[in-house]
Amino acid sequence: MEEETGALPAKNDFSSWFNEVLWRAEVMDVRYPVKGLYVWFPHGFAIRKHVYERLREIMDRDHQETLFPLLIPEHEFMKEAEHIKGFEEEVYWVTHGGKNQLDVPLALRPTSETAIYPMYALWVRSHADLPLKMYQVVNTFRYETKHTRPLIRLREITSFKEAHTVHATWEEAESQVRAAIEWYIEFYTGLCVPVIVSRRPDWDKFPGADYTVAVDTIMPDGRALQIGTVHHLGDHFSQTFGITYEDDKGVQRYAQQTCYGISERCIAALISLHGDDHGLVLPSSVAPVQVVIVPILIGKRRAEVNTAAEMMEQVLRAAGIRVKRDIREIRPGAKYYHWEMRGVPIRLEVGPRDIDAGVVSAVTRTGDRSTIPRGDLVPGVQALLGQVTASIKKRATDEIRSRITVAGNVDDVVLAVQTGIAVVPWCGERRCAELLEEKSGGSILGMYVRSELVEGIDGVCPVCGQKGCCTLIGRTF
Ligand code: ZN
Repeated sequence: MEEETGALPAKNDFSSWFNEVLWRAEVMDVRYPVKGLYVWFPHGFAIRKHVYERLREIMDRDHQETLFPLLIPEHEFMKEAEHIKGFEEEVYWVTHGGKNQLDVPLALRPTSETAIYPMYALWVRSHADLPLKMYQVVNTFRYETKHTRPLIRLREITSFKEAHTVHATWEEAESQVRAAIEWYIEFYTGLCVPVIVSRRPDWDKFPGADYTVAVDTIMPDGRALQIGTVHHLGDHFSQTFGITYEDDKGVQRYAQQTCYGISERCIAALISLHGDDHGLVLPSSVAPVQVVIVPILIGKRRAEVNTAAEMMEQVLRAAGIRVKRDIREIRPGAKYYHWEMRGVPIRLEVGPRDIDAGVVSAVTRTGDRSTIPRGDLVPGVQALLGQVTASIKKRATDEIRSRITVAGNVDDVVLAVQTGIAVVPWCGERRCAELLEEKSGGSILGMYVRSELVEGIDGVCPVCGQKGCCTLIGRTF
């Protein structure tokens, strides 16, 4: 096998780093011959598998998983006016079946409201059918005209987790919105990705929603990346699609709805926040390989070393740890490079000297070196995995905190937006927002809802001097 060499661009050149790490760590291949469509390498797909297992585990507590068709008939897609306005520029249409023109053109779902809600109209009859809570993980298609990039801005989103719920009252739908925000925070906590939750301004809400709450993180270049959204749909869609129920007094009422989604941007955030100059850095919860064993085969004791490595592998695997023994005929240094690039949290080395001392040498992906007694291999490795995750979390939190600045005047906003997010008491007037956006080059992300990273602030709008609400401004992807 060919030995890998060559260094990544330094991570402070984030854009180049991101592009390079995706293929060097075998996450995505960008060479597929359609713009905006990318291919998952098996290693990338294994990361995806573990990440989405966590997401499913959370969703399964309160939802049923389902699967709706990719194709949406034109007459359903065109029903909700605001929704069409929001998506019509981005829709791919299927117009032919073989040589025949279709009677009804079919949209490739850009999102699934108009696929799911005609069926919900059939399924919901009475208050006893509510609440209805379903989700699916599917691909969606959007004809992006902006610069496309893997995991972040795609024409085929391959991994869209979308949940769609139906409730009897507006308040019940609102408490579902709050619950969804908590689940998303839990999900991202599991990925060690710190987030900020804010309510998008009205002009930036989901087309057809009462309001939108977004989950953002801050990327290494200081730009905010939206990595989740939660929408209160009110009865906009239920009126359009006729989703009604009979209440306990026999009166027909329109249902209230929510929807919320997360795409593979969660993996973009995972990779971008934690990676370093040597490649990916993965928390053990989602690392496809948690431990790699590298036997140090020098001198005459090869067989002995190999046996020891094999035993270690068996013991760790039996304890439920995802372990790989690298027995390729290449230099140990090349193996270190290979597994560091792929983000493996722990490397165990075993050679003749370790065997004599009854220990194993351990090196974490976050840079700590230690020895574990052979007899304590499992608890020793488990403790180290926990340490790696804690250290990843601390580093990400410190870095993101350093990119959030409370700004009291327009100049401070401009300065803060250069390196991250400005927190500013904005009055809510659009013309003040426009001035702040124009001066800073950022955009209003939204009114602050919650985060461990920012304290809510009060004060006056730096533009007009009226009382303001804590608002976040930053450049976005
Ligand atoms: Zn103002």
